Parts: sequence; C-alpha cells; structure tokens
Amino acid sequence: MRLFVAAELPYEMAEAMGETIANLRDCVRGRFVASANLHLTLAFLGEVDAFRVDDAAAAMQRACEGRGPIEAELGELGAFGSGRRVVLWQGVESGGSLEGLASELRDELDRAGLSYDAKPFLPHVTLMRNADLTRIVSLPTAAVAQGSIERITLFRSHLAPDGASYEPLETVEWE
Ligand code: ATP
Ligand code: MG
Repeated sequence: MRLFVAAELPYEMAEAMGETIANLRDCVRGRFVASANLHLTLAFLGEVDAFRVDDAAAAMQRACEGRGPIEAELGELGAFGSGRRVVLWQGVESGGSLEGLASELRDELDRAGLSYDAKPFLPHVTLMRNADLTRIVSLPTAAVAQGSIERITLFRSHLAPDGASYEPLETVEWE
C-alpha cells in the first residue's frame, strides 16, 4: 500500500489556505487540492507491505514522545517546477519544530528498516498541481494564520484519475 506520514492542519490554518485557494482559482489554471486533503507531509514512504503498518505507527509514536503540540504559522507561497506543471504550495514556519519532528521521524523509520523518499524536508502544504504559470505575472498574496499542530497521521493514499484520496490508518496525538 502507498503510505505517507503527515501533519493534519489546525482549523485556522486550513481555513486560511482555503481563502488562498479561492484567490488562486481566479487567476491560475490547474488542479486544486480539495480542502479535506490539505496536509503537511513529514515522510513519504511509498509502497509498503501491509504487515509493516504497525512498525510505521510505532516509529511515529517514538518520534512524537517528549514533544508537544507545534505552534506553526503559514508563510509564503512557493513553487516546484516551472511552465504548465507547477506544484504550488504554502510554506509553514515553526521555528524549527517541524524540521526536528521530521528528522526524528525519519531516524525512527530508518531504525525500523522502513524506507522513505529522502529529499530534504521543506515544510509546506501543496495547494495545487499542474498549475499553469506560463502567463502569470504575479501570484495573489497568501492568507496567513497561526495554529497548533496537535497530531500526525499515517495515511494510505489511493490514487485515482480525479485526484488521490487519503485514508487515515493511525494517528498519534499530543495531549
Ligand atoms: P497525485 O499524485 O495523484 O497528484 P497526491 O500527490 O496527493 O496525488 P500521493 O502521490 O500519494 O498523492 O502523495 C501523498 C503525499 O506525499 C503528498 O503530500 C505528496 O506531495 C507526497 N509525496 C508524493 N510523492 C513523494 C515523493 N516522492 N517524495 C516526497 N513526497 C512525496
Ligand atoms: Mg503525488
């Protein structure tokens, strides 16, 4: 099964991103992420045998121990790629806490013998894919918000032609 670990977004942040997406809809063509699907990926595991789900959950649990909710703030819009197939995202700032969590999670996945995409971690939430920026002069300003990230979730991704859907398998929540 196709797996990834992500932080779910606090309500205030999800709401602000909804506003940013609404502004983008007025000026950029492409595929928008459904508001229910907004998330911040900490580690993308890809194809994993079903019997290893418990090990992934245990790694998440260990990575979260001794940490608390993460105070985070929405940052600037950013882009991966160019031309007509750009991934547009909004950055998330946490004074290094998200970086610390992602790094510890990846260490625990290593210890569990679970592999993941090892691209450097850049805390962001994808807002749209296949964005056509070829005729865009400037992007709208992104709505900002602060919030407290209180849980991380192991998701199973079901890819489909009309967009992926994510099934939560395990959640680790801070008090
Ligand atoms: P689609 O691929 O159909 O556009 P999606 O990207 O939402 O849908 P997945 O490809 O399953 O669904 O990705 C799930 C999450 O993992 C997303 O946040 C995605 O950005 C991230 N992700 C996917 N592939 C990688 C990768 N190779 N490295 C890092 N993160 C990835
Ligand atoms: Mg993808």
